[in-house]
Amino acid sequence: MSVELFDTHAHLHFPDFDADRAETLARARQAGVTRVLTIGTEVPTSRAAIALAESEPDVWAAVGVHPHDAAEADEATLAEIERLAGAARVAAVGEIGLDFFRNLSPRDAQERVFRHLIGVACRARKPVLVHCRDAHAEVLAILAEERASEVGGIMHCFSGDVAIARRCLDLGLLVSLAGPVTYPNARALPEVARFVPADGLVVETDCPFLPPQGYRGKRNEPAYLALTAARVAELRGEPLEVFARHASDNARRLLRIG
Ligand SMILES: [Zn+2]
Ligand SMILES: [Zn+2]
Repeated sequence: MSVELFDTHAHLHFPDFDADRAETLARARQAGVTRVLTIGTEVPTSRAAIALAESEPDVWAAVGVHPHDAAEADEATLAEIERLAGAARVAAVGEIGLDFFRNLSPRDAQERVFRHLIGVACRARKPVLVHCRDAHAEVLAILAEERASEVGGIMHCFSGDVAIARRCLDLGLLVSLAGPVTYPNARALPEVARFVPADGLVVETDCPFLPPQGYRGKRNEPAYLALTAARVAELRGEPLEVFARHASDNARRLLRIG
């Protein structure tokens, strides 16, 4: 049985990969990463994500406004994201959410854009990809109030503990583990990796950011998902092939990718 991995959160259309995108995709395929979801963070990067997905059969796109960019998101921005969300290669709305760690946009702007784009996802009938830093209580409350469970979604780069993971699952979200689960100081993440049931977990790189242990300080890329997946499988006491299959199936079911 071969390993089949789905990178549920990459920024493969970012300029970081302009010089070697084809080689990067070739290394991903070589490493067993057979599907990649590439994620927009505002209008131009959402358009670029769609363009890449339209040119690569194993890449799909998500469109959204990152909380860092919420302050600049006017009505025209939100209308354009809603229009883009209808595109055939767009599998989800994201990334969206709250970041109270860096606070690059005012909190009220972050919340306004997050609520609006959950509504866009519900109207488009596509799941949400949620970015959450130091804002778990607020993010979970807004997801419940805006009925995100109607479309489901992914809590990307999960950074909480078991109690928060349980609340995400209750809201219909998958828990996505990224490079930090491989770090010596992974805090609650190993416990989360063991706790979440097989049908509730996915994995991601968030490349070019957050490389796994062994590549820290370098550019991350989808091929390195194999290291994160191997660590999660080890923590769960499962063969890598079995864990990878479950995680891929979970992503494909949520994103409706055959
Ligand atoms: Zn993020
Ligand atoms: Zn991201």
